[in-house]
Amino acid sequence: MDFNLHEDPPELADFRREVSAWMAENMRGGEHLRWSASWSTRENEEEYRFRRKLANKLGGKGWLFPMFPKEYGGAGLTIDHQIVLETELIKYGLNLSHVFYTLARIVAPVVLKWGTEEQKRELLPPMTRGEISIWQVLTEPQGGSDVANCQTKAIRDGDDYVVTGQKVMVGHHVPPDYLWTLVCTNPQGKRHENLGWIHIPANLPGIEIQHMHLMMGIKNAVFFDGVRVPAKYLVGGENNGWKVANTHLELEHGGDGRIGVDPLVERVVEYCQKNGIAGQKLIEDERIRDTIADIVLELNTLRRFNQRNFYHRFARKPHPYGGVQQRYFQRMARLRNGDRLQQIMGIDALVQDLSVHEVVDFEYAVRTGPGQLHGGGTLDTDRLVFARRVGIGRPLVEKAPETI
Ligand SMILES: Cc1cc2nc3c(=O)[nH]c(=O)nc-3n(C[C@H](O)[C@H](O)[C@H](O)COP(=O)(O)OP(=O)(O)OC[C@H]3O[C@@H](n4cnc5c(N)ncnc54)[C@H](O)[C@@H]3O)c2cc1C
Repeated sequence: MDFNLHEDPPELADFRREVSAWMAENMRGGEHLRWSASWSTRENEEEYRFRRKLANKLGGKGWLFPMFPKEYGGAGLTIDHQIVLETELIKYGLNLSHVFYTLARIVAPVVLKWGTEEQKRELLPPMTRGEISIWQVLTEPQGGSDVANCQTKAIRDGDDYVVTGQKVMVGHHVPPDYLWTLVCTNPQGKRHENLGWIHIPANLPGIEIQHMHLMMGIKNAVFFDGVRVPAKYLVGGENNGWKVANTHLELEHGGDGRIGVDPLVERVVEYCQKNGIAGQKLIEDERIRDTIADIVLELNTLRRFNQRNFYHRFARKPHPYGGVQQRYFQRMARLRNGDRLQQIMGIDALVQDLSVHEVVDFEYAVRTGPGQLHGGGTLDTDRLVFARRVGIGRPLVEKAPETI
């Protein structure tokens, strides 16, 4: 795979010029979003609207999912085009899969893999056009690590599934259009064979959402009380939810890969160039430069993991343990970087700077490091999956699930 170490061939160079001009035109008025590279709970309404509109425009050209077939709202382009798009967006601090708060980056590939033709035609275009926001709704109050022990029931009744149960610590501050969730479709069935995966319109009667104000921002509890969900929303077939879950979780847990860069280090360097103690700029201090070097090394390592996984995913050669390796490393690096930020800037690392987005806010990085070790499964889950994928402690080596 070529990560643009060489010059673009002519056809790709034309495409890069087109994307670059398009971005310059469409980012006009949004230049201040430079530091908002990824998800942020701090964006105001104006910023959120700007980003949704941008996603909509990108989606209209098929560029949000450039490699998806045109009939499902993609652009039917190659991986090289996808890389051009990703690298041009990064110049504005944007990430193709996170232009605005939506989980379509995971949901759309899962629907492409597991959906029926009818479902692909109905469900994919609103996602690929950037029109909807989706929450991933898996964790339940009795324990999130054991995802398969799902207690939310979805019992078939005529043309509907009747869903009853509760999920916690899900979503974010922006209301969802759909809830993408695992349910128990056969309470008497065997473990792993009793589950279904369902895409629930969030406006159905019987759904109640309550904010949970956590140390790291807003999550939610979602209550389902006899919610009638049309059966056409069950993805992957009857009692097949665990297989769908495997694809979803592999993508969520690092298997999706990415091209982007973590903007934190850029801001740290900028801070150290501007600020100093006793007439000496921080960047001139040898110990601080060493600490910054540690951040750079780890973030670059992480970038290589991300790029490698990106390649394996699109080449359809799932890396046996690459996803979970990236995820473990990413979370530990974030925790260590929180410590490093405190070493570099002392008390300043504990004071919120609301003028920047949380992704690059030093205080947010420090505060959320520990909590991020838990989000989307714990470090213990990572270690367990890693051990199974390399064959530690079991006679059989577990294969990585196939993604798209
Ligand atoms: C920031 C954040 C964002 C999140 N976002 C979402 C979201 O969008 N959607 C969603 O569905 N969920 C979300 N979650 C929930 C998250 O997926 C769960 O917190 C996680 O899976 C762990 O589940 P739990 O909190 O119930 O802990 P538990 O599963 O109860 O685990 C508690 C402790 O016991 C350990 N443990 C559990 N089982 C075992 C075992 N068998 N052997 C050894 N140790 C074990 C765990 O490692 C952990 O240390 C989010 C959580 C956070 C913190």
